[in-house]
Amino acid sequence: MPGKALFLDRDGIINVDTGYVSKPQQVTFVAGIFEVIARFVAAGYTPVIVTNQSGIGRGMYTETDFHQLSEWMQSQFTRQGLPAIPVYYCPHHPTEAIAGYLQSCACRKPEPGMILQATRDHGLALDESLLIGDSWRDIQAADAAGVSRKVFVSTQAKPAQTISGVLQVGSVSAILDADTLAGLL
Ligand SMILES: [Mg+2]
Ligand SMILES: [Zn+2]
Repeated sequence: MPGKALFLDRDGIINVDTGYVSKPQQVTFVAGIFEVIARFVAAGYTPVIVTNQSGIGRGMYTETDFHQLSEWMQSQFTRQGLPAIPVYYCPHHPTEAIAGYLQSCACRKPEPGMILQATRDHGLALDESLLIGDSWRDIQAADAAGVSRKVFVSTQAKPAQTISGVLQVGSVSAILDADTLAGLL
């Protein structure tokens, strides 16, 4: 039976987005994120990270650096009692990237490629799934993939573009508000 997914952007949702984070010592976890993931896991969701990493394409850090950071993050998740979380990433950029990464790909959000690949790999039901992101590109990618519900974490007004199924909250920890959480799980 297809499972429901909790799709998570990384930078700005898992870790504070200080720009091109590539090493453990640059990571500050976003307040409340471990508990948010735990609540969804307890409700039967499979967490999946989907992250644009054009820093790889731009030559700022390597795929090896990225994988090492991802492994370190997994160790932090498991220390918190969470499962290992699959990570899907796009290393490309359409205009500013070194050879091999310079391309208009189907994986860089707002394209839905990473979400669709995760759906195939893990047998997920998009119409029962949810995405949490802090960029409108995350919301657009989820919408294009068919993820029915999206949480847009932003202290700024939502762009004028209308996408159905979007809940706007001011912070990740605001998702833990009892009524908010009850409406999402
Ligand atoms: Mg982000
Ligand atoms: Zn890509």
